[in-house]
Amino acid sequence: MQLYSTNNPSLRATFQEALFQGLPPDNGLYMPVRIPRMHESFLRELPKLSFSEIAYLLAEALMGDEIAPDTLRKIIHRTITFPAPVVALDEQTGILELFHGPSLAFKDFGARFMAQIMAHFNDDPSRDLIILVATSGDTGGAVAAGFYKTPGIRVVILYPSGKVSPLQEKQLTTLGHNITAIEVKGSFDDCQDLIKKAFLDENLRQRLRLSSANSINIARLLPQIFYYWEAYKQVQHLGLPIVFSVPSGNFGNLTAGLLAQQMGLPAQHFLAATNVNDTVPRYLKYGHFEPKPSVRTLSNAMDVGSPSNFARILQLYSSTWNIVRAHISGFAFDDEQTQAAMRAVYADHQYVLDPHTAVGYLAWKAYQSQQPIRAFGIILGTAHPAKFQEDVSKILRTDLPLPQPLEQLLKQPKSATPMPVDYALFRKWLSNTFG
Ligand SMILES: *Cc1c(COP(=O)(O)O)cnc(C)c1O
Repeated sequence: MQLYSTNNPSLRATFQEALFQGLPPDNGLYMPVRIPRMHESFLRELPKLSFSEIAYLLAEALMGDEIAPDTLRKIIHRTITFPAPVVALDEQTGILELFHGPSLAFKDFGARFMAQIMAHFNDDPSRDLIILVATSGDTGGAVAAGFYKTPGIRVVILYPSGKVSPLQEKQLTTLGHNITAIEVKGSFDDCQDLIKKAFLDENLRQRLRLSSANSINIARLLPQIFYYWEAYKQVQHLGLPIVFSVPSGNFGNLTAGLLAQQMGLPAQHFLAATNVNDTVPRYLKYGHFEPKPSVRTLSNAMDVGSPSNFARILQLYSSTWNIVRAHISGFAFDDEQTQAAMRAVYADHQYVLDPHTAVGYLAWKAYQSQQPIRAFGIILGTAHPAKFQEDVSKILRTDLPLPQPLEQLLKQPKSATPMPVDYALFRKWLSNTFG
């Protein structure tokens, strides 16, 4: 699989290079040079295929030139270990539940796949590969679970002290083994800065093999294509046009859906559903891309003012506003609307939406009321409501029980290394721990 940089089409990389670099040297984003189109027979056979067979055939079409079939099968087998069911709310609305993995959010798919791929390409058994990640909450849990006990790879997760939920903190700090948590006395941006400094530190990099598991890594994006097809498989018998509503922050999930469509997925339209951090819906409405500082909301994994994957979406449509608008409609909602939707869906369908998925639900309802044609809306259920149990219980005015594994998790002792915002100390810790 050849990739190019969104900043310079002649800057090329293999999948393996893009995986370990994360970003191209010119600070663009990697995009596939050619997006393979799936054969008619794949669509015909789809209803008979299992989720992991679907994922394998898509992965084979995308990266079969760099990874042998047996290896790819093993990687897929270890990635797709939980289902992605479409749960129908009514005749025209379904929730694609992507939260049945270990961290209870869709990010598990990308993180697990990336861990398996990195372990496969990690060809220097003499030195461990050290993955540095900063998290504001959800990413860290998915990466920790995804890389847990992966041979030859150590993971260091930096998180801002007191700024992640108790459940999220336990997901980062209780695994142990090859996962180490650093509790930084600062903000998420401070955590990112410490990591950035480590990557720019030539002397350190001569001694330690460092890499990142950033959300814009192509290896986290590609596996998200798989579940769009898995969702389509489950609803194709209805014979209705399919619209995907995607609760969005950095727009990786939506980008994966658009890639799936270019591979031949019969999706009629996509909805970019955001909270009040509405940079993309404003672009779709007015034609100007104007990022602004992010605002804190209930759906905080979507609090992104400057969505980084937007550059990828522009590439898909030759940076032409009208073409982008032909594929995507944008909708933004505030916290009050989000809470009202959660209450309405609970009252009408006894279904508990988490605040992120609720934004996707609102977008589908708004789009549906504008459109005269019948279609089936698939809302991407990006997180399990239990992950935001306190907020959800308060909003629904009911006591939401915590699933048993989460009760257990909250009882585990936390283990984290405290760290001030001081690069010299972080550097010393890295050298002492891994040098
Ligand atoms: C990360 C996340 C999102 C946003 O996904 P993007 O790919 O960044 O647009 C939405 N919901 C939840 C629960 C998330 O964790």
